[in-house]
Amino acid sequence: MPELPDITVYCESLERLLAGATLKRLQVQNAFVLRSFDPPVAALAGKRLTHTERIGKRIVLGFEEDLFAVVHLMIAGRLKWVPDGGKGATNKATLARFEFDSGTLLLTEAGSKRRASIHVVRGRGALAAHDPGGVDPLACDVDEFVQRVLRENHTLKRTLTDPHLFSGIGNAYSDEILHAARLSPLMLSQKLSREEVVRLHAATQEVMSIWLSRLRREAAETSGGMPEKVTAFRPEMAVHGKFKQPCPECGTLVARIVYSENECNYCPRCQTGGKLLADRALSRLLKDSWPKSIDD
Ligand SMILES: [Zn+2]
Repeated sequence: MPELPDITVYCESLERLLAGATLKRLQVQNAFVLRSFDPPVAALAGKRLTHTERIGKRIVLGFEEDLFAVVHLMIAGRLKWVPDGGKGATNKATLARFEFDSGTLLLTEAGSKRRASIHVVRGRGALAAHDPGGVDPLACDVDEFVQRVLRENHTLKRTLTDPHLFSGIGNAYSDEILHAARLSPLMLSQKLSREEVVRLHAATQEVMSIWLSRLRREAAETSGGMPEKVTAFRPEMAVHGKFKQPCPECGTLVARIVYSENECNYCPRCQTGGKLLADRALSRLLKDSWPKSIDD
């Protein structure tokens, strides 16, 4: 699922491409994608895009007259910019077309699970209903971070990916953050020492900043200025998606905990003092303290 760095770069690219552009219409190609009915999509027709913003893992397109289109890509949703109207570009994977005067923004979703969504809302109040309330991990200082981490007693994996605590951290970047912080994904948040929470805060900001710059650079190098290779699995990652590959720090093979449709990757030397954390049975045991398969 695209997380904070990917979503931020999408928002920045869209704002560069589309600020001031007028939406001719939003054409919904697949009825499932639209999850709101009032205001109708027709309300957006003829409105100028004023700005974009990120709410958690959602991309918000802001239009004049206080109208917003809230796009949640979930796992397989992607945005594609087609400068020339892009009639030919529409196919089975196209869920919606934002047709602007300067080109068309396609919302696509690979596979057959229709999870990506669009909500059209009017007013800041209605928009706020889409915000789970997590703090921006890049903007929050160490005190606020400590407060959030200690609020409930859950595994660190769950704490970092809880959208009510932190905004925009999912399965991939939580693996990377915990590896950078040398902390076990199963450690309970309220068991952390002050030194460990501070280390987790630093690792969170470091991992997010590094990836944000990396993805910004990549987007700038694409012809359309929009992110093209949006994926949770990248060669530069240390442990996420690297099961049985050597940890870049110590060479130990990366291990995993499998749960529902996901897995958590970690280095058993850097993060758990040589302990393997087992498997499905364990994640069943953890139940409430473990992230669900699909966050927010
Ligand atoms: Zn290691």
